[in-house]
This record gives sequence, C-alpha cells and structure tokens, in this order.
Amino acid sequence: MRDTNFLIENNAKHVWHPMANPGEMRENPPHIIEYGEGVEIIDIHGHRLLDGVGGLWNVNLGYSCEPVKAAIIAQLQKLPYYNAFRGTTNSPLIELSYELCQFFKPEGMARTFLTSGGSDSVETCLRLARQYHRANGQPERTKFFSLKKGYHGTHFGGASVNGNANFRRNYEPMLGGVHHLPAPFTYRNQFETEDGAVIAKKIAAIFEEEIAFQGADTIAALIMEPVLGSGGVIVPHETFFPLMREICDRHGILLIADEVITGFGRTGSESGSRLWGIKPDMMSTAKGISNGYFPLGAAMISEKLVDAFESTKGALGTISHGYTYSGHPIGAAAALATIAEVKRLDIAGNAATLGVELLSGLQALKAKYEIVGDARGKGLMAALELVSDREKKTPADKAVVQALYDAAYEAGVMVRTSGSNVIISPCLAIGTEHVNRILSALDTGLAAAT
Ligand code: PLP
Repeated sequence: MRDTNFLIENNAKHVWHPMANPGEMRENPPHIIEYGEGVEIIDIHGHRLLDGVGGLWNVNLGYSCEPVKAAIIAQLQKLPYYNAFRGTTNSPLIELSYELCQFFKPEGMARTFLTSGGSDSVETCLRLARQYHRANGQPERTKFFSLKKGYHGTHFGGASVNGNANFRRNYEPMLGGVHHLPAPFTYRNQFETEDGAVIAKKIAAIFEEEIAFQGADTIAALIMEPVLGSGGVIVPHETFFPLMREICDRHGILLIADEVITGFGRTGSESGSRLWGIKPDMMSTAKGISNGYFPLGAAMISEKLVDAFESTKGALGTISHGYTYSGHPIGAAAALATIAEVKRLDIAGNAATLGVELLSGLQALKAKYEIVGDARGKGLMAALELVSDREKKTPADKAVVQALYDAAYEAGVMVRTSGSNVIISPCLAIGTEHVNRILSALDTGLAAAT
C-alpha cells in the first residue's frame, strides 16, 4: 500500500468527492478510513472510532458480518456476473426477488425490479409510475408531488423531486411538472405551531388544494420518505402518512414510499411504511438491503400495479428501463444473506429499543446545552439541530458544527454533519454501551462547540 502522504496528496489531486466542493476539500482534507471491525472503523493513523454514521445509513449489521462476506465470496466463485435483460436470469436474483416480496408482504409488495442503488430505485419508481398510468389508460397523469426537505437521490428525476434547491441549482432545468409540499417538520415550519397533527392536516389541505388546481387526472404520483433522512431526520406525526395515503387513493395518485434509508429496520420497523401503517404503491429501497457491502437497490411494486403491466402486450407494457447491474448475482447473494441476518437478529426490534435510549440521551443533551435547538429521531436515525439563538432558532455557524464534529472524532465517535444538523445513524446491530459512547462523545463535542 502507498504511504499516508501519497494518499493524502493524491486524494486532493485526483479525487472529486460526492456532495463536496473540490477546492474547499483541498483545504480541509477528508479522513482516510482503512479498516472496519464490528461497529467500528479505523482511520489510516490507527485512530479507532465507533461509527455513528453506519457507513452512510447502510452498514446496518456492522463491518464484520461474516455470512454476508461469505455469500459474496461464494457467488464470486460461482457466477460473478450475468445480465438479467430479457432472455436470461440467475438464481440469486430469483431467490432475492422472492425474499423481498415476502419481507415486504405486509406492505403489499408483489414484484421486484433490482437496481444498483437508491437513485436508481427512485428513478425506476418514477418511470414506472408514468408507465403504469399510460398502460392503465390515463397517459395524461405525468406530474409528481414530493416534500420540501425530501431527498431522493441525484438522477435527473430524483433530483427534480428533491426538496432541497441546492441539489438542483447547478443542474437546471430539471424535470417539469414537479410540485413540492411543505415538510411535516414540527421544529421549523410556516404554520406557527409545533403540533404535528395540526401540521399534518395543514399539509393535507395544501395537497388537496393543489390537486384541485392542477387537476387530479394530471398527477402521476406523490413520492416521500416515511422519515425524512438527509433533510435532517424529520419525523412526521403518525397521522401524516395515512392522511396522504387516503388523499392519493381518493384521487388515483400513486404513493411512492422512498425507503432507501428507512427500509430494513432503521426506524425500528421493517419499513417506514409499516411503521406508519400504510401500504404504498411502490417502494424504493437500497442501502441496508446489502449491508452496504455491494451497490444494490430494489424498486418494489405492489399487487395493484401488476396487472396493468402484465396484461399489456407490446411497447406500452414493455419496461424499457433497466441497468447492466439490475439483478447482479453477487449483489443479490449479498442481499439474501443480509436479509437472513436482519430477520435472525431482529434488527428492527433492536433499532426500536436502542432508538428510545438514544433519543432520551439526545434530549438530555438538549437540556444541558443551549446550542441544541432540537433533538429528534425515530429508531436509530436521529439528529441534533444546533442554533446560535434558541428563541430565534438561528442556525449555528459552520465553525460551531465543525468544532463538535472534530471533538467527537477525537473522542472516538464518527458523526455526520449537514448544515446545522448533526446526524446520528449508527449500525443497527449496536448495544446500549455503544449508544452511551455516542452520547458521551456528543457531550464532549457540544462542550467544545459551546
Ligand atoms: N432516496 C433516499 C431517501 C436517500 O436517502 C438516498 C441516499 O441517501 C437516495 C434516495 C439515493 O440513494 P443512492 O445514494 O444510493 O443513489
């Protein structure tokens, strides 16, 4: 392996990182992570950290999940790749599709379309939504609704429905016919209330009004995350998803649950849709599906949509969409082993229990430190929002957030920052001792940042 100086130098020289300004990164070089072990990572200098980021909300079972590693190696020896375009398929792909439909049976899922990741899964859902309406005799249903502060990946479709203008600004013009509803955010909203149930009703009323204005028969789908992750871990009131489901049903609008983060246990339930007790028409999944060990995603399609596709012959019913790596046998083998472990270890149950401990610890930190404006979370996805003025909810400066990050890193815990939010999304296979380590490092970080 090349020495540390070579790596640091050439990272600056030759690497462009996702979601980063290359020039600014040169001044503030990234940590080079060299090993993963259990729920910890070790950087190139040998500094060991509890991974409070869980890879990127995806290494749910940790870095030493031997059954997943073994499945990848075995499949690599047997069949490292073959395409799944019309004419061929492979056994892990078939078995995984079966397992996924079983796993998401309570959500009403009946078909699987495999992809290479979250953005692909979102794109697949958006495209299939339009195609469904065409095949179903309503080709004018083309528009999409989504939530402000929602994140749906970076393909043109997904970025168009994205609820953060920063992800669109440099890439305009985006897809036309996209409309954004307010986020169900109790801490910051336009409604001057922190009552989640009231906020849910107000957004529902705006949605209804907009449907009437646009014409229901022009709208293809509403896409939203059950808990908004990248937008700052925004947990809607329990009435929100059911309300939106009911409105979509009444107007023939498809509901796409973007479960890229929330699928496979992160919220403390097998899916965010199950958490809120709703059945979406499609689900985009990725991340935890393969424990982050192989780039993989799946668009899940409900029974309701199946017939329109499967009984339509010719071009209209043909899915003219897909990826070279749709149904990659190694990814499918990794996912099969991951799902078996997720079930065996009751990973969702663990996330639910430890999520309560994590949130109560975060609330205690809010009580202790004036710079914490809000502490929120569901299962093992949580956030602290830092402010410089609690009354006015003024977002904290970048330097304050960075000071917390640096001190937590020094104290041996990796967290992620996004604007004035500190995001906590550890591996789901952690225990109470790990939650305590995260809280203790945050305590150190907050003291340093105050
Ligand atoms: N959808 C949601 C809800 C996500 O959180 C993400 C990524 O964080 C994506 C889509 C995009 O997934 P990927 O980065 O795997 O393309």
